[in-house]
Amino acid sequence: MAMENPFEGKEIWFGVGSQDLYGEEALRQVAAHSAEMVDYLNATGKIPAKIVLKPTLKSSDGVKQFMVEASANPNVIGVIAWCHTFSPAKMWIRGLEVLTKPLLQLATQHHKEIPWETIDMDFMNLNQAAHGDREFGYIVSRLGIPRKIVVGHYTDPEVAEKVGTWARACAGWDASNNMKVMRWGDNMRNVAVTEGDKTEAERVFGASINTWAVNELVAAYDAVKDDQVKDIIEDYKARYDVDPALLDAKYDSLFIAAKEEAAMVNMMRANGCTAGVDNFEDLGALPQLPGVGPQRFPSEYGWGFSAEGDWKTAVLVRIGAVMGYGLPGGASLMEDYSYNFTEGNELDMGSHMLEVSPSIGTIAKPKLEIHPLGIGGKADPVRLVFSGAPKKDAVVVSMADERERFRLLMDVVDVVEPQGSLKELPCARAVWKPQPSLKTAVQCWITAGGSHHTCMTTSVGREAWEDFARMAGVELAVIDENTTARQFEKELELSEMYHRLNNQH
Ligand code: MN
Repeated sequence: MAMENPFEGKEIWFGVGSQDLYGEEALRQVAAHSAEMVDYLNATGKIPAKIVLKPTLKSSDGVKQFMVEASANPNVIGVIAWCHTFSPAKMWIRGLEVLTKPLLQLATQHHKEIPWETIDMDFMNLNQAAHGDREFGYIVSRLGIPRKIVVGHYTDPEVAEKVGTWARACAGWDASNNMKVMRWGDNMRNVAVTEGDKTEAERVFGASINTWAVNELVAAYDAVKDDQVKDIIEDYKARYDVDPALLDAKYDSLFIAAKEEAAMVNMMRANGCTAGVDNFEDLGALPQLPGVGPQRFPSEYGWGFSAEGDWKTAVLVRIGAVMGYGLPGGASLMEDYSYNFTEGNELDMGSHMLEVSPSIGTIAKPKLEIHPLGIGGKADPVRLVFSGAPKKDAVVVSMADERERFRLLMDVVDVVEPQGSLKELPCARAVWKPQPSLKTAVQCWITAGGSHHTCMTTSVGREAWEDFARMAGVELAVIDENTTARQFEKELELSEMYHRLNNQH
């Protein structure tokens, strides 16, 4: 059981703009320098998808062909553009207009320092990225095409870092556009924020969100072979600290939990789904509210999962899992539960009745336990119990439906150790210090109408989600170390206005 590598076979195309004016020798050098730069960036190991250099772009037809091919190729998850020389930007219009993949403008150059003693007109003619980047930037801005701009010499570690983060967001966007979400049952009755427009979500995020009858899950449960269940139990034993009672007097409960996991996994695979969501109010003849299985969706399968019919958070968790692939930490459903208002030690504790995933990292080996659960009216569910590992600059992200658009809301948080044993709390949880402070963060969160359900990512942070939101053309309100409640309220008003006016994306 391991998550499929979302970068396998994926490419980022590198298009270098120039023109015929400079003659063959200059164009030969442009191509050679570009190859050197792409090789360097690929060798940093910081960029999880392969960057592929394409032939130098010198004409409107050439740019259009490049963009059409990049857009049509399912393996291309993004396009980087750079201008070594001057590249008159009217030649980019027709191509940029048909580009459907995320764009990054790399404002870099081949030479690091100005060769003060030797620089002449020939050198300037060839090495004029500062000039070319502005002409290119003008046309991208004029066309209103969202892009990430990364500035710096190509050997600057920060450049590879930023391109790498963007490549992760590209993979998240690709995953979003190829996502099928399996809903078992509908939304929890009467809950507002977990509702939303699934048709609009498919238009905006590309994710196809549909419902399967819980009876089908029950049938899948009945069809699970014992061997598959036993393999899953072996995996539990290898990864978790399993309560001895579950291997003895309560083995039947463990078997049921593993069998439910198998049934869900089989249905997800049979339908090509990468995110799932259930609802404790609609479990049909399932014996337990699924606990350990869904907790393992992000950590063992790389899939999104959320509870109570909240498909929006399930979508975010899948995107978070993809963006963070290969990094320490991961993505999970989280839910704000309880504040610690002690002066100077203000904290927020998040949890859920069962479904928080150990993918976010755990302080100790997760315990696999069984406890009663009043909600749902089913047999005692088996669940993983742990505390999330400390992590600076993690994020919680919520998606809410604002009628005419979706709003993403993010708070940058520092996950910290719980302040006590939490020995009576039989569910997974994480404790964090929200930035800039608990009071400001909570005030801003409530002002923006953010959900109580969030996706926590401890692998990727703020920048990856910002890159993702830009690609999706979706509002992202950010609460971070510099936020003040007053300024945030104003930002939100402006942002609301902007997104209502710019709702054609
Ligand atoms: Mn909930």
